[in-house]
Amino acid sequence: MFHLADNVYVVGHKSPDTDSVAAAISYANLKNQQGMPEIYVPAAAGTINNETKFVLEHFGVPVPETITDAKGKKIILVDHNEVGQAVDNIKEADLLEVVDHHKIGDIQTGSPIFFHNEPVGSTATIISAMYDQYKVPITKEMAGVMMSAILSDTVLFKSPTCTDKDKAQVEKLAKIVGEDYQQYGIAMLTAKSDISSKTARDIVKGDYKHFDFAGTKAGIGQIEVMDLSVLAPRKKEILEDMEKVRKEEGLSFVLIMLTDVMKEASDLLFVGSPADKFEKAFEGKMENNSIYKKGVLSRKKQVIPPLEAAFK
Ligand code: MG
Ligand code: MG
Ligand code: MG
Repeated sequence: MFHLADNVYVVGHKSPDTDSVAAAISYANLKNQQGMPEIYVPAAAGTINNETKFVLEHFGVPVPETITDAKGKKIILVDHNEVGQAVDNIKEADLLEVVDHHKIGDIQTGSPIFFHNEPVGSTATIISAMYDQYKVPITKEMAGVMMSAILSDTVLFKSPTCTDKDKAQVEKLAKIVGEDYQQYGIAMLTAKSDISSKTARDIVKGDYKHFDFAGTKAGIGQIEVMDLSVLAPRKKEILEDMEKVRKEEGLSFVLIMLTDVMKEASDLLFVGSPADKFEKAFEGKMENNSIYKKGVLSRKKQVIPPLEAAFK
């Protein structure tokens, strides 16, 4: 009997960032080169952002399709492993694999799966190394998207999440791409910093995830710009929208990191409660709903852990 090969969707988290899209594209490509009967389809769990658009245009890679519902689909998750960040109805999907670089979350399966998690700066770093492991050649296009994802997630190697493995993979990929990765990285971050066409909601929700701190539900987002002064005049509008989002989503608080990539600092905006836990976590007094923290660039390493500690 003739069977159409099954589609397996490789998909990153909601509010897709460059790593979640690049990881989906490059991992689907790797799987498709390995001679399996299935067809691996890269997908995004939402509209791609300006930075990702820049990356895909630069390397001539098509924008992946968007999926919003995982029900009944064969799925591989990349760049996340939490139900709250995944495409809707992930519990009703046939989950085949996870490739990620975050803390282990609450994804559960009924049978054993391939689960590859590594504490490195980006999911693309793991996938780039897998190409070598499985001896699959890396095309210029795939090298370009993976290099971009590593540079984006590690904020050009400045983030405390960056490891030697990330740097080594970028060096390797840059040779295939044939571009100076530092110059390219600045151009990519500049594309990301263009917020002129963005609404307050775009800024709040552009890179936004749900978290649960011992029963306290929160939304935590981040926007990275080359220079915070472009965001300063819009702070009031952003705070007002954060409060709207908090109410709409029934959350205790919403925190948005306004991150200055060049100064290597973040203005942490907070609405909701408990404000005392926010102040405890970031060892400061809130002024105009914010605490400015030098050296803070990473949500994963420098915002989530102190909040978890404050809620203990
Ligand atoms: Mg991500
Ligand atoms: Mg990532
Ligand atoms: Mg990020």
